[in-house]
Amino acid sequence: MNAGIDLLNVLKSRAVTVAFLWAVAAVVFTLIAEISPCRSEPANGFEQERRHMVTTQLRERGVEDAATLRAMATVPRHLFVPDSLQRSAYADTPLPIGHGQTISQPYIVAYMTAMLALEPHHKVLEIGTGSGYQAAVLAELTDHVYTMEIIPELATSADSRLKAAGYTSVQLRQGDGYNGWPSAAPFDAVIVTAAAEFIPPPLLKQLREGGRMIIPVGSPFFVQHLMLVEKKNDEITTRSLMPVRFVPFRRKE
Ligand code: SAH
Repeated sequence: MNAGIDLLNVLKSRAVTVAFLWAVAAVVFTLIAEISPCRSEPANGFEQERRHMVTTQLRERGVEDAATLRAMATVPRHLFVPDSLQRSAYADTPLPIGHGQTISQPYIVAYMTAMLALEPHHKVLEIGTGSGYQAAVLAELTDHVYTMEIIPELATSADSRLKAAGYTSVQLRQGDGYNGWPSAAPFDAVIVTAAAEFIPPPLLKQLREGGRMIIPVGSPFFVQHLMLVEKKNDEITTRSLMPVRFVPFRRKE
């Protein structure tokens, strides 16, 4: 009988010791995880890739605007590409997003964004939402982002991606952006991310006095030029910035 009780006591004290050791181990692991630098950089957050992209693709190529660089360092680009391409999200290249469309190369997104010289109170219209990535970058700079996409499926998926990434202030409308968004006009800035043969007059009209538009102009199969358009004293001036290649600006059939 006594031997039985002793055995029980021994087993109990062993169990207490084991539980105590497990508790100590748990505390130690938690502390290590807290102080480890890996904790602030979860492997699936792509922070390192994003920082590398900002340094090598943007800063070293002359993008200087601090607000744009901050936005590019913040927006999780990997959440705006198809899942199968997440690992390539920060590569120095455009990527397919379905329906024959592409998300622009990071450098082009940053360059166009910087050219808009956005201020926090500015209202900006984007034509060609695509993945929603450019709209998210704009939303890091102002709460007044309007974006239009002609392909219904892309409009729907961009809307969910933007919401999932927390960009809930972005106004998205599915439709032909040729006619702009008259009820929200005038805009301090307009950015067109598909190549048009000419600058759509309604977009010029909806540009505020002193406003800036950036738009690739040219034939879909030849060289296109990224144009900076400014409206000053009711006069339009255009400046060609660089040769580019964009998907074509479509019209509603
Ligand atoms: N800014 C996008 C790039 C999209 S590619 C991004 O960050 O991912 C250009 C997009 O313009 C395509 O999705 C295409 O469907 C859209 N587009 C082309 N013509 C358009 C039009 N007339 N109105 C609205 N969107 C248009």
